[in-house]
Amino acid sequence: MQTRCCCGAVVEAKALEEESPLSYHLRLGCTECANWVTASGRLEDITPLVQRTLWSNEARHELDRLPPYIESLVREEVESYAAKEGRALITVALFQEARLRGKVSWPSAAKDRLANVPAPIRSMAKVEIERMAIEQGLSEVTEALMDEAKAKFLGMRGRQ
Ligand SMILES: [Zn+2]
Repeated sequence: MQTRCCCGAVVEAKALEEESPLSYHLRLGCTECANWVTASGRLEDITPLVQRTLWSNEARHELDRLPPYIESLVREEVESYAAKEGRALITVALFQEARLRGKVSWPSAAKDRLANVPAPIRSMAKVEIERMAIEQGLSEVTEALMDEAKAKFLGMRGRQ
Protein backbone atom coordinates (compact mmCIF):
# COMPACT_ATOMS: atom_id res chain seq x y z
CA MET A 1 0.00 0.00 0.00
CA GLN A 2 1.21 3.50 -0.79
CA THR A 3 0.04 6.57 1.06
CA ARG A 4 0.40 10.10 -0.28
CA CYS A 5 0.55 13.46 1.40
CA CYS A 6 -1.72 16.35 0.36
CA CYS A 7 1.40 17.82 -1.33
CA GLY A 8 1.51 14.79 -3.64
CA ALA A 9 4.66 13.19 -2.24
CA VAL A 10 4.83 9.73 -0.74
CA VAL A 11 4.62 9.34 3.04
CA GLU A 12 6.94 6.90 4.72
CA ALA A 13 6.73 4.93 7.98
CA LYS A 14 9.07 6.66 10.42
CA ALA A 15 8.35 5.34 13.89
CA LEU A 16 6.32 2.66 15.63
CA GLU A 17 5.03 2.81 19.18
CA GLU A 18 3.69 -0.33 20.89
CA GLU A 19 0.89 0.53 23.28
CA SER A 20 -0.27 -3.06 23.83
CA PRO A 21 -0.31 -6.35 21.85
CA LEU A 22 -3.55 -5.10 20.26
CA SER A 23 -2.71 -1.47 19.77
CA TYR A 24 0.13 0.03 17.75
CA HIS A 25 0.73 3.60 16.60
CA LEU A 26 2.60 4.08 13.35
CA ARG A 27 3.92 7.53 12.55
CA LEU A 28 4.21 8.33 8.86
CA GLY A 29 6.07 11.35 7.58
CA CYS A 30 5.97 13.04 4.19
CA THR A 31 9.19 12.64 2.19
CA GLU A 32 8.91 16.22 0.82
CA CYS A 33 7.20 18.48 3.34
CA ALA A 34 6.84 18.57 7.14
CA ASN A 35 3.45 16.83 7.28
CA TRP A 36 3.01 13.67 9.29
CA VAL A 37 0.14 11.45 10.37
CA THR A 38 -0.36 8.62 12.85
CA ALA A 39 -2.10 5.36 11.93
CA SER A 40 -3.33 3.33 14.89
CA GLY A 41 -4.55 -0.24 15.02
CA ARG A 42 -3.53 -3.84 15.23
CA LEU A 43 -0.18 -4.92 13.85
CA GLU A 44 -1.79 -6.56 10.82
CA ASP A 45 -3.72 -3.35 10.08
CA ILE A 46 -0.69 -1.07 9.98
CA THR A 47 1.80 -3.52 8.42
CA PRO A 48 0.63 -2.82 4.81
CA LEU A 49 1.71 0.83 5.32
CA VAL A 50 5.32 -0.18 5.92
CA GLN A 51 7.75 -0.76 3.05
CA ARG A 52 11.11 -0.97 4.78
CA THR A 53 12.30 -2.61 7.99
CA LEU A 54 11.32 -0.47 10.96
CA TRP A 55 12.14 -1.04 14.61
CA SER A 56 9.49 -0.07 17.14
CA ASN A 57 10.62 2.42 19.79
CA GLU A 58 10.29 -0.34 22.39
CA ALA A 59 12.29 -2.91 20.39
CA ARG A 60 14.97 -0.27 19.74
CA HIS A 61 15.11 0.30 23.48
CA GLU A 62 15.73 -3.43 24.01
CA LEU A 63 18.62 -3.14 21.56
CA ASP A 64 20.00 -0.03 23.26
CA ARG A 65 20.16 -1.86 26.59
CA LEU A 66 22.69 -4.35 25.20
CA PRO A 67 26.42 -3.83 25.57
CA PRO A 68 27.74 -1.98 22.48
CA TYR A 69 29.92 -4.89 21.34
CA ILE A 70 26.96 -7.25 20.92
CA GLU A 71 24.40 -4.65 19.84
CA SER A 72 25.35 -4.74 16.17
CA LEU A 73 25.46 -8.55 16.14
CA VAL A 74 22.00 -8.75 17.69
CA ARG A 75 20.65 -6.08 15.32
CA GLU A 76 21.89 -8.12 12.37
CA GLU A 77 20.54 -11.37 13.82
CA VAL A 78 17.09 -9.88 14.44
CA GLU A 79 16.92 -8.11 11.06
CA SER A 80 17.87 -11.26 9.16
CA TYR A 81 15.27 -13.23 11.14
CA ALA A 82 12.62 -10.57 10.36
CA ALA A 83 13.56 -10.66 6.64
CA LYS A 84 13.36 -14.46 6.58
CA GLU A 85 9.91 -14.32 8.23
CA GLY A 86 8.78 -11.57 5.86
CA ARG A 87 8.09 -9.09 8.67
CA ALA A 88 8.91 -5.43 8.11
CA LEU A 89 8.01 -4.25 11.61
CA ILE A 90 10.38 -5.28 14.37
CA THR A 91 8.38 -5.36 17.59
CA VAL A 92 9.53 -6.42 21.05
CA ALA A 93 7.79 -9.78 20.50
CA LEU A 94 9.65 -10.34 17.21
CA PHE A 95 12.92 -9.22 18.81
CA GLN A 96 12.51 -11.75 21.60
CA GLU A 97 11.30 -14.45 19.22
CA ALA A 98 14.48 -13.99 17.16
CA ARG A 99 16.68 -14.14 20.24
CA LEU A 100 15.01 -17.19 21.80
CA ARG A 101 14.81 -19.06 18.51
CA GLY A 102 15.94 -22.66 18.69
CA LYS A 103 16.45 -22.68 22.47
CA VAL A 104 13.08 -24.23 23.31
CA SER A 105 11.36 -26.91 21.23
CA TRP A 106 7.62 -27.26 20.66
CA PRO A 107 6.16 -30.79 20.62
CA SER A 108 3.16 -31.05 18.26
CA ALA A 109 0.59 -31.07 21.11
CA ALA A 110 1.98 -27.77 22.40
CA LYS A 111 2.00 -26.35 18.86
CA ASP A 112 -1.67 -27.30 18.48
CA ARG A 113 -2.53 -25.50 21.69
CA LEU A 114 -0.59 -22.44 20.59
CA ALA A 115 -2.56 -22.44 17.32
CA ASN A 116 -5.71 -21.88 19.42
CA VAL A 117 -4.37 -18.63 20.82
CA PRO A 118 -5.99 -15.67 19.02
CA ALA A 119 -3.73 -14.59 16.13
CA PRO A 120 -3.09 -11.01 17.31
CA ILE A 121 -1.43 -12.16 20.53
CA ARG A 122 0.00 -15.50 19.41
CA SER A 123 3.58 -14.41 18.75
CA MET A 124 3.72 -12.60 22.07
CA ALA A 125 2.28 -15.64 23.88
CA LYS A 126 4.85 -17.87 22.16
CA VAL A 127 7.70 -15.67 23.32
CA GLU A 128 6.31 -15.51 26.85
CA ILE A 129 5.92 -19.31 27.05
CA GLU A 130 9.50 -19.78 25.77
CA ARG A 131 10.75 -17.33 28.36
CA MET A 132 8.86 -19.21 31.09
CA ALA A 133 10.39 -22.49 29.84
CA ILE A 134 13.92 -21.05 29.99
CA GLU A 135 13.27 -19.64 33.47
CA GLN A 136 12.21 -23.11 34.60
CA GLY A 137 15.18 -24.78 32.92
CA LEU A 138 13.04 -26.61 30.36
CA SER A 139 14.27 -27.29 26.82
CA GLU A 140 10.79 -28.26 25.68
CA VAL A 141 7.30 -26.79 26.13
CA THR A 142 5.36 -29.19 28.38
CA GLU A 143 1.63 -29.60 29.00
CA ALA A 144 2.10 -28.33 32.56
CA LEU A 145 3.83 -25.21 31.27
CA MET A 146 1.01 -24.59 28.78
CA ASP A 147 -1.51 -24.93 31.64
CA GLU A 148 0.47 -22.47 33.71
CA ALA A 149 0.66 -20.03 30.80
CA LYS A 150 -3.05 -20.44 30.12
CA ALA A 151 -3.86 -19.56 33.72
CA LYS A 152 -1.50 -16.58 33.49
CA PHE A 153 -2.68 -14.97 30.27
CA LEU A 154 -6.10 -13.70 29.41
CA GLY A 155 -7.36 -14.97 26.09
CA MET A 156 -5.29 -18.15 25.96
CA ARG A 157 -7.45 -21.16 25.35
CA GLY A 158 -6.26 -24.77 25.38
CA ARG A 159 -7.89 -27.43 23.28
CA GLN A 160 -10.74 -28.94 25.29
ZN1 LIG B 1 3.87 16.56 1.95
